Amino acid sequence: MDNKEKYDLETLAVRGGIERSQFGEHSEALYLTSSFVFKSAAQAAERFAEREQGPIYSRFTNPTVKVFEERLAHLEGAECCVATASGMSAILAMVMGLLKAGDHVIVSHSVFGATVQLFTGILQRFGLESTFVSATDVSAWKQAVKPNTRLFFLETPSNPLTEISDIAALARVAHEAGALLAVDNCFCTPALQQPLALGADIVIHSATKYLDGQGRVLGGAVLGKREVILPGVLGFLRTAGPTMSPFNAWVILKGMETLKIRMEAQCASALELARWLEAQPGIERVFYPGLPSHPQHALAMKQQKNGGGIVSFIVKGGKDAAWRVVDNTRLISITANLGDTKTTITHPASTTHGRISAEARAVAGVTDGLLRVAVGLESLKDLKADLARGLAG
Ligand SMILES: *Cc1c(COP(=O)(O)O)cnc(C)c1O
Repeated sequence: MDNKEKYDLETLAVRGGIERSQFGEHSEALYLTSSFVFKSAAQAAERFAEREQGPIYSRFTNPTVKVFEERLAHLEGAECCVATASGMSAILAMVMGLLKAGDHVIVSHSVFGATVQLFTGILQRFGLESTFVSATDVSAWKQAVKPNTRLFFLETPSNPLTEISDIAALARVAHEAGALLAVDNCFCTPALQQPLALGADIVIHSATKYLDGQGRVLGGAVLGKREVILPGVLGFLRTAGPTMSPFNAWVILKGMETLKIRMEAQCASALELARWLEAQPGIERVFYPGLPSHPQHALAMKQQKNGGGIVSFIVKGGKDAAWRVVDNTRLISITANLGDTKTTITHPASTTHGRISAEARAVAGVTDGLLRVAVGLESLKDLKADLARGLAG
């Protein structure tokens, strides 16, 4: 690919980062090797000292993983990308690479369950202080700032309630406080939202979700400016090793080629499904950023190209009624994954958010009747029929 041209996202998703070997293969090569051979002792020394560019060992340098990193950096408009074994290890690598004991982090209430566990259950033991605030209330973030605040962390739209945080406004608050803003862009992907262009400093990905898009492998990434990501995050990866496998990088690269058309189709189905759910008598409330009834609809439409593929809704009758909907599906998969071509359904209160305290769940709005559907590529008629069975009782 000619790097001097300015290509569109669709083009970059198919061709970004490709570096062909001496064989001139058309498709991305899979370098399934743990280490790389040097021509001489002197060359080995030059590589290790970073005086010569080139792969050394796949914990931190693998050509297939590098294609993934460059392609995702192109899509997010980032200078730099570091791939990780999973989305959670991307968050861990960011924190370990950039923060230290005694630092303070402000985190949105409405982040992924394991992310809450990471900040409270694990990182707190190592002296990292965190305060949880509303995803949508900018003034709450401002009030939570302390002299040692180094990082703001959020997801938008959030999981599972699809709350929208104002990235540009929170970037201004973070920067005034001398902190960095990190955005988990898992739900939107760069096909719908580019947080760096809105002022964020760091983008986190769970590549497990829409980037692969077919529910096959785990992966993650940390993106941002070179001076933010290097040497901290890459240094942590090089030493501690939560690295993306080259096989997974290759699989996700293939997934990224169809990212835009998948996202467009899944968003269109999600909007239709959300409208239909809103009209069903058994439903108390629907959460979907593309609906005018969503509290941050206007902000979502300004910040995102589309409403996304996730629809959440509260079933009247609490947990029993919600479980009845889940158990009556024949087509939709009962699984926690999202961003797959296969539609999935989850009861967050007893699964993804089951390990956090009841109070934390209540604050996050994860009630017992709440269900989350991650819309795939099946026919909308079949999806509606599958949900209608459970809603009928
Ligand atoms: C799944 C998910 C993660 C964690 O990613 P893994 O690849 O499963 O480790 C982080 N953030 C969000 C928003 C997610 O949906």
